[in-house]
Amino acid sequence: MKRDYYEVLGVARDAGTDELKKAYRKLAMELHPDRNPGNKEAEEKFKEAAEAYSVLSDPEKRKVYDQFGHAGLGGAGGGGGQQFQFDPSQFADFEDILGSFFGGGLFGDLFGGGRRRSTGEERGSDLQYNLRIGFKDAIFGQEAMELSIPRLEACDTCHGSGCEAGSRPETCPQCRGQGQVAVRQGFFQMLAPCPRCEGRGRFIPKPCKACGGEGRVHRKTKVGFRIPAGVDRGTRLRLQGQGEAGRFGGRAGDLYIVFDVEPDPAYERDGSDLHRRLDVSWPLLVLGGTLPVETPYGADKVKVAPGTPADHVVKLVNAGVPRLQGGGRGDLYLHLRAAVPKTLTAEQRELLEQLRRSLDGEAAGESEEGFLSKVFGGSEKNGKKKRK
Ligand SMILES: [Zn+2]
Ligand SMILES: [Zn+2]
Repeated sequence: MKRDYYEVLGVARDAGTDELKKAYRKLAMELHPDRNPGNKEAEEKFKEAAEAYSVLSDPEKRKVYDQFGHAGLGGAGGGGGQQFQFDPSQFADFEDILGSFFGGGLFGDLFGGGRRRSTGEERGSDLQYNLRIGFKDAIFGQEAMELSIPRLEACDTCHGSGCEAGSRPETCPQCRGQGQVAVRQGFFQMLAPCPRCEGRGRFIPKPCKACGGEGRVHRKTKVGFRIPAGVDRGTRLRLQGQGEAGRFGGRAGDLYIVFDVEPDPAYERDGSDLHRRLDVSWPLLVLGGTLPVETPYGADKVKVAPGTPADHVVKLVNAGVPRLQGGGRGDLYLHLRAAVPKTLTAEQRELLEQLRRSLDGEAAGESEEGFLSKVFGGSEKNGKKKRK
């Protein structure tokens, strides 16, 4: 005996669309063949739930079912003949658990293919090419780039049709051009791809000799493109129609160039911002002055105010990387760090000692908190130790 569809899904007779969806999703997850390997009962229940959902989620079928029950859906033959046909598009919301219907997937495995194909053409595959570029090329971009890409291209001899000159594809006699044939599976009648024409609906009586009837051949071709200014590691550039040609004259796929960017010893990149560490003499920080700096756009000068802290950050607006989206550029952050000389000449040492005595004298009574801690904000442990 067939169970009531509402009972199968565990919903009330007035359940709304969302409620149906929810109930079906829960069941499909529970009874999923991946979770119940080899469990025939679970598989049958899984199919039962799919059938129930496909009826109740279709307003027309639901109306008939509500009025006449299972008998109403039994097909023109009536008499309890359990004919049943799925419309895979009703399950499009469940692709995350069931897999893709039109490309086969779990649904296709259990119920037979749901491939929808009206012509014999097939879109070609997308291709991916990983390209490593220099740090500066990523910032400034590069015109007139060229890559040699091995790929399948439309056959010149037959112009992609796969047919010998003077011949043309013929309608498949087995499926009468539908590309699908009805297959019985238990009480289901499912549509499966036609075995004779592989679902294309047509076949090639005289295949082209150059491509064996595929309509495409292997070739290595130079593809031109430009690197936009501002690409980053992982940026994908899509070159439409530069992927592989489709079989039997189908549309070509796309070529994706995925960038990797060489690091630069001077800069650290964070999106469209750049960071650069700079060692500067501490008298410059103390006294102030002008600091010459290099940016990706050339030499520049930065004004350093007197009494600048030892870990100061200077922001050079618009000196970063161009933004791929939104325009403009990021900023360049200069992380200034006081350089402490390791060796000194006798003269420099004398001058420093003089300076220290002078500064220590100024701060009378703070013998431990000497000149170095003034300059370095009290964090210079070495300075303290030496003076003990
Ligand atoms: Zn050919
Ligand atoms: Zn066929």
